[in-house]
Amino acid sequence: MEKRHHELAKFTKKIKTTYIKGVKPEEFTKTLEKLKVNVVVDIRYWSLYPIYFSPKFMRDLLEIHGIEYVKYKALGNPSSLRRRAGENFIYAKQLYQDYVLGNPESNHDFLDLFKQFRFRKNFCLICYCPTFDVKLCHRFWLKELLINVKRQSLGFSEVIELQNYAQKLTPEVSI
Ligand SMILES: [Zn+2]
Repeated sequence: MEKRHHELAKFTKKIKTTYIKGVKPEEFTKTLEKLKVNVVVDIRYWSLYPIYFSPKFMRDLLEIHGIEYVKYKALGNPSSLRRRAGENFIYAKQLYQDYVLGNPESNHDFLDLFKQFRFRKNFCLICYCPTFDVKLCHRFWLKELLINVKRQSLGFSEVIELQNYAQKLTPEVSI
């Protein structure tokens, strides 16, 4: 395999995602352990409720399990954008990705997060949205953006769109 394909596959494999709505703390940490997560990346716009998943409690909970916790508020999906997009999720993704690259604070957080991937660790993007459909939630839109910036840095010309697992018949390395 070409070196940069290998590099891309390695990068992609480091980005796990999960949600916390309706999930109990012990289920959450079990999922993280199953995914071999070293760092939880909290990208919730609102993070006050439920109280046991507020940033402080989450940090304490994860610490017990030897998992790091980082929070990037500026990578959350602001309610103003969500309101503007309504049920149009194609537009919602576009708004969110433009915001992440274009809003100075978000762009700063994005680059900071991107740099973290040089470490030999697994990361897990977390938010509320109880969905595994990549079309519906900003944790997937952020993952897609990370992969595309990585692709660009490796000299790949095309931009990819994240696909749902069920549709993903081609191996991960080819994206
Ligand atoms: Zn989400």
